[in-house]
Amino acid sequence: MKILNDKFNFANLPTKIELLSRFSELVGKNIYFKRDDQTGTEFSGNKVRKLEYLIKFAIDKGYDSLITCGGIQSNHARATAAIAARIGLKCHLVLRGDENSSLDGNLLLDNLFDADIKFINSEEYSHSRNEIMENITLKLKNKGEKCFIIPEGASEKIGNLGYINCLFEIVEQEKNMNIQFDNIITAVGSGGTYSGLYLGHKIKGIKNRVIGINVCNNREYFLNKIYDISNQTKEYFDLDLTLKREDINIIDGYVGKGYALSSEYEIDFIKKISKLEGIVLDPVYTVKAMYGLYKEIKKGTFKNSKNILFINTGGLFGIFPQKDLF
Ligand SMILES: *Cc1c(COP(=O)(O)O)cnc(C)c1O
Repeated sequence: MKILNDKFNFANLPTKIELLSRFSELVGKNIYFKRDDQTGTEFSGNKVRKLEYLIKFAIDKGYDSLITCGGIQSNHARATAAIAARIGLKCHLVLRGDENSSLDGNLLLDNLFDADIKFINSEEYSHSRNEIMENITLKLKNKGEKCFIIPEGASEKIGNLGYINCLFEIVEQEKNMNIQFDNIITAVGSGGTYSGLYLGHKIKGIKNRVIGINVCNNREYFLNKIYDISNQTKEYFDLDLTLKREDINIIDGYVGKGYALSSEYEIDFIKKISKLEGIVLDPVYTVKAMYGLYKEIKKGTFKNSKNILFINTGGLFGIFPQKDLF
């Protein structure tokens, strides 16, 4: 079994695992955070783990610029733009949102990293973002630029290596800490974080402990998407694994008002955790997933679990454009 290990080293790895003692006391379980929000500052969050592999692949194939897409406050777009700047590549972004939006949070950073940004509306984003990216690369090609398309969230076959290796990192940390996590919880936005963690379990030959909480779309959508991209990784790297759709655990019900839309209870929960632990959840992903975990613990979903690991996937910059909600 061959696993591609050719990558850039942009992220601060391994990330720490910390017990949230006050939150743990509140819910009556040991809740640990894997601080993937501390993979970097400009590179912070979960996307850098995937991009380390995917951008290395693109460079090795002779590409000389990058294009990707996301919401206007996309952490993935910002991490891609930051890495592109670091290695001296041009970065093109297709963002869903209004071009007159104020320069704040991740969008401000995208500009500082000199990304070339095209704004599109939600309709165009949901139906034709890939086509729009392809058209841009064709235009660039005529100018002699070989532009590599990174799909939304870098959730694809090679990007999945990021969280496969994160799972190996967690298993190593479990040995060192002499602890066994009963569940591993992550927010699910484009599926690659879940897919990598799931594949990591399969490669290690251990039961999948990952529970995803979707922050957009629905359970059915992500069962299909995660199953598909997991199979693509399996085929591309010729992994001898049996993947089953039934192995994938997604808890739906915490999307709230929709992707990147905040409800009052979510804002209150960000305040609560900030005050309790000195950790600020982001309004798009981690707050929905942590609130989901909190509620599900109360409902008894985790009654057989003692130690729960929550992947803090980052996103802090996304809080600043939402300041009016606080
Ligand atoms: C993208 C993102 C996620 C979701 O990860 P996926 O791999 O896209 O499912 C979670 N948290 C943050 C902060 C993100 O930026």
